[in-house]
Amino acid sequence: MLACPAVPGPAHADVVTPDPSTLDASTPDVPTPDVAVSDDAPGAPYGVDAWSAGYLRAGEDGALRVRVAGAEVAIADVVDRLEADGRPLPTILRFPQILEDRLARVNDAFDTAMAAAGYRGGYQGVYPIKVNQRRVVVETLAGAGARWRTGLEAGSKAELALVLVQDTHPDALIQCNGFKDDDFVRLALWGRALGKSVVLTLEKVGELERILRVAEEMGIPPAIGVRFKLHAAGSGTWASSGGDDAKFGLTAGEVAAVVARLEAAGMADALVMLHTHVGSQVPDVHAVRVAVREAAQVYAHLARGGAAPRYLNVGGGLAVDYDGSKTATPASANYGLSEYAEALVAGVAEVCDEAGVAHPMLVTESGRALTAHHAVVVAPVVDVIGPTRDPVDLPPLPADAHPLVADMEALLDDVGPDTYRRVYNEAVSTKATMHQLFDLGYLGLAERAHAERAHARILAAIADVVADLDYAPEPFDELPNRLADTLVVNFSLFQTLPDHWALGAPFPVVPLTRLHEPPTRRATLADISCDSDGRIQAFVGRHDVAPTLPVHDVAPGERYLLGFFLVGAYQDVLANAHNLFGRMAEAHVRLTGPDAFEVERTVPGQKARRVIENMGYETDELLAALGAEIDEATRLGAGMSDEAASRLRALYAAELVGYTYLE
Ligand SMILES: *Cc1c(COP(=O)(O)O)cnc(C)c1O
Repeated sequence: MLACPAVPGPAHADVVTPDPSTLDASTPDVPTPDVAVSDDAPGAPYGVDAWSAGYLRAGEDGALRVRVAGAEVAIADVVDRLEADGRPLPTILRFPQILEDRLARVNDAFDTAMAAAGYRGGYQGVYPIKVNQRRVVVETLAGAGARWRTGLEAGSKAELALVLVQDTHPDALIQCNGFKDDDFVRLALWGRALGKSVVLTLEKVGELERILRVAEEMGIPPAIGVRFKLHAAGSGTWASSGGDDAKFGLTAGEVAAVVARLEAAGMADALVMLHTHVGSQVPDVHAVRVAVREAAQVYAHLARGGAAPRYLNVGGGLAVDYDGSKTATPASANYGLSEYAEALVAGVAEVCDEAGVAHPMLVTESGRALTAHHAVVVAPVVDVIGPTRDPVDLPPLPADAHPLVADMEALLDDVGPDTYRRVYNEAVSTKATMHQLFDLGYLGLAERAHAERAHARILAAIADVVADLDYAPEPFDELPNRLADTLVVNFSLFQTLPDHWALGAPFPVVPLTRLHEPPTRRATLADISCDSDGRIQAFVGRHDVAPTLPVHDVAPGERYLLGFFLVGAYQDVLANAHNLFGRMAEAHVRLTGPDAFEVERTVPGQKARRVIENMGYETDELLAALGAEIDEATRLGAGMSDEAASRLRALYAAELVGYTYLE
């Protein structure tokens, strides 16, 4: 039998209190207090103060600034530095200090809540790496988290392989969730032999015999958790992760059977954790309260029966307020970190005190709330198109143009506060007639073009009139959205915001400059993929989520950068290479003072070759196939000179090692 701790973790409740001098006092708890922001304050149309948890601020010069650890820099300055160093856009910026600050804020919230409630069990966080397995994220959270004994959670063998070798505190939990085979169990038990506090969580009852058998074979005593299937469900998009229909978890009867089996084997001590999880992004604190009471009751029953697990792990669910509305709606949360910690701590304390059992070490597995804020995608606008823009000079109208065109153009002069309704109705019918005439061959392309342009101008003029009214009735309230521009952005929605594509989840998008100028236009965003789903039509605004984004008038060729925020949780790792757009280049940025920063590390974006090879192709074969195409074209006399052939080969080879985005 190898020497290793019989049960992991500290033997009694010893809370590690962070050194307050290293905490950043400048960044408030989330959500930020309701400070009055006037409508024309820089950044106000984007609700920056409401959702950025204090990590962003629009400067008086209109630049969006990131702030953490007592320092502050303009994001556009970071981008300028990267571009000067030859780094391409689009890019992901990561701010490891925000990860550290998130850890500090969460642990701080639990410290405060425990002190207030007289909670004696202590708190330890565990970061579930499935939320973002990127190296800098895991290493930063493991390293900076050592101070609070922050652990890591793995849901698969590959994740466990990563987690086991991180530089965590020996008492930090290494939590093994997910379905397991023998090798998964073996690797976990070897982790115990390495002196790590590894806990194997039973997701289903059948895993117990497997764990006992492998542990016996290896001579390493296991530390076991049971995942309890709470009756309480979460709320929001992932409510079905919890509740009676949950995919994972043991019923009350199954938990009793596990306890009995372990007692019979003389291994009652092996049960170290009761685990629950009601799903991610729980927007309603009421659901948190209900779930924790149920979990605490299960804990108290086990404890009174003599099988007190050391840890009560209530899983993830701590929500991020993506739209800044502070409501119990799917993209938001009606509570902040302090209220969350208070709800958990008070719930467990009350139930345990009533039952007369000791307070357990409270564990949470927050992933989203630790990682969402640390990453931003920066992408440039490459084109602006829209119904009210006249990109080309129209061909002249023929002298014998159909009178309908003049009728439409004349309507434009009639638009006014008293007439806009009549003009609108007439324009709608004239447009319908125009299409009929065109379909029947009575109208030429130039006539149609002039009529369509006049129609768009009429709508724009009406929109101007309506904007000055107190109230815009249907359908005029929708005019600004109908007339919105489309900004074509050099990025792929499928790489950057998969949850917007899959679930319609809104993410904040903000121009990185010009925020001191009031935006004068509205726009939707289109990515450069060839998929019509590759667009964004839900934007976080000041008071609501709107179908269009307020933007500035972008001149042709003007550099206009957009930041996509709160993308650090799940988006990074759910990303897919639709249309073969690959991973973006990234830079890890550390703020060092006022307007001072260091680019700690850059990671090149995926080369086209990598994305292509993932689809089963070999670059050598592709180059050989190109050679055969060239030979064939030459043989057929299509006339490709040696010089042309070698230029084609060079371009093709360069593309294979090039960035997948527009350069
Ligand atoms: C995904 C997951 C989490 C993370 O939840 P967040 O809401 O992102 O904090 C925690 N625990 C378990 C078991 C999970 O599956």
